[in-house]
Amino acid sequence: MSDMPSDILIKQQIIDTVRMFCTHGLGVGTAGNLSVRSANGFIITPTGLAYEQLKPDLLVELDAEGNTVTGHLRPSSEWRFHRDIYRSDDEAGAIVHVHSPYATAMACTHQSIPAFHYMVAIAGGDSIRCADYATFGTAELSNYVIRALQDRKACLLANHGMIALGRDVSSAFRMAQEVEELAKQYCYSLQIGSPVVLDNKEMQTVLEKFKHYGRQGEEDN
Ligand SMILES: [Zn+2]
Repeated sequence: MSDMPSDILIKQQIIDTVRMFCTHGLGVGTAGNLSVRSANGFIITPTGLAYEQLKPDLLVELDAEGNTVTGHLRPSSEWRFHRDIYRSDDEAGAIVHVHSPYATAMACTHQSIPAFHYMVAIAGGDSIRCADYATFGTAELSNYVIRALQDRKACLLANHGMIALGRDVSSAFRMAQEVEELAKQYCYSLQIGSPVVLDNKEMQTVLEKFKHYGRQGEEDN
């Protein structure tokens, strides 16, 4: 199936965005991947290729079973949780996965990010959960991820990194930046004292306000 012009634009946006992982403190080397839901399934970055070498026709499109639709390279070794997130969350239009330093530091201590700052609500609830550890690429890891993402747009992955969801590539990237920033602030707070966690009632108030804030954001775009 030949690429529609819009597919080429989306593929270029995927490439531009994964290159920003390194320039925006979200990772080094190729330890990250990004996918976008497509008509046939989803388009994902290939495994083991330097971001500088990426070109639109090197991205891989997989169907809902995980079979290759277009592309001749192997998909990211972590394609399975991308597929399983798209299956379980209709609102997920794009997924960013990175091993960013602060989120990963928290994930390596198996700590969720609590409501130490009201912006934690940006991910949909009063915490950003840490999914249990399982080997990368396994169905077991997918199951833990789906559980941690219940009513959330982001989670940490124990001894691994983080996942951020969005309606599109730019919103998933912004979510990853938010999560990394919150993890950084929480790590700093732990160094100078005991972070004070906001209570449920306050976080419910913030979540309500964010619903309105989100709609306004859409009108602006
Ligand atoms: Zn990973």
